[in-house]
Amino acid sequence: MPEQMIDLRGDCARCFGLCCVALPFTASADFARDKPAGTPCPNLRDDHRCGIHARLRDKGYTGCTVYDCFGAGQKVSQVTFGGRDWRDGPRADARRMFDVFPVVRQLHELLWYLTEALTLPAARPVHADLRRMLERTEALTRGTADELAALDVPAHRQQVNVLLLRTSELVRAGLGGGSKKKNRRGADLMGARLKGADLRGASLRGAYLIAADLSGADLRGADLIGADLRDADLRDADLTGAFFLTQPQLNAARGSAGTRLPESVTRPVHWTA
Ligand code: SF4
Repeated sequence: MPEQMIDLRGDCARCFGLCCVALPFTASADFARDKPAGTPCPNLRDDHRCGIHARLRDKGYTGCTVYDCFGAGQKVSQVTFGGRDWRDGPRADARRMFDVFPVVRQLHELLWYLTEALTLPAARPVHADLRRMLERTEALTRGTADELAALDVPAHRQQVNVLLLRTSELVRAGLGGGSKKKNRRGADLMGARLKGADLRGASLRGAYLIAADLSGADLRGADLIGADLRDADLRDADLTGAFFLTQPQLNAARGSAGTRLPESVTRPVHWTA
């Protein structure tokens, strides 16, 4: 993984277990129980560690093994709230912390994409713009809790997206990704049989690939931003150079030791367990 992206991964040791408290869960195949937002999960220990970390999947908490905060947990805990534990202060401060956490997570996800875009040589014509947007986004993450709570994240996301789209065009142009056939943006490909398919340089932005068979597919240089890969079969697929693929997306898919991955992500432990 490029060094610049390491800080954009969750570091539970520097976080007050925010994802296990701030977020709501609905009982489903991903979570064994309902939990309202702002209430600690019963499995959260006093040291902010998960009491069932090694058995999450067996215990029905698959969703917890998929999730990543992009480093928002440690940012809110250590920067926005200066290392003050939500357990120790007034309830109103705790609530503010829980409100701000999803905002910072969204900003950190944008930082992830912008940082990755800056590692792509084909995107050089927009690197200066990407760098400016990265600095602006990073500055937003350092706002006060009140500033963060009032932030119009969708409007900022839209501005970032213009640059990410341009990046995508530049990267895929050299891979034959400009053709109509390779444009699967937002496509409904749920359960699609794409075994061994040539998707090199394709745009799969926001595509619904839930439970799709992508085994052995050639996804080199494909744009996977926002693609829903839940239960997609990526065994032996080639994702070398695929971009805007996040760890949570990959964690939600199935794969194998033979799946080839881009440098920006790591092989999920449960793929080979
Ligand atoms: S099960 Fe563990 S990881 Fe999942 S929310 Fe609860 S404490 Fe957090």
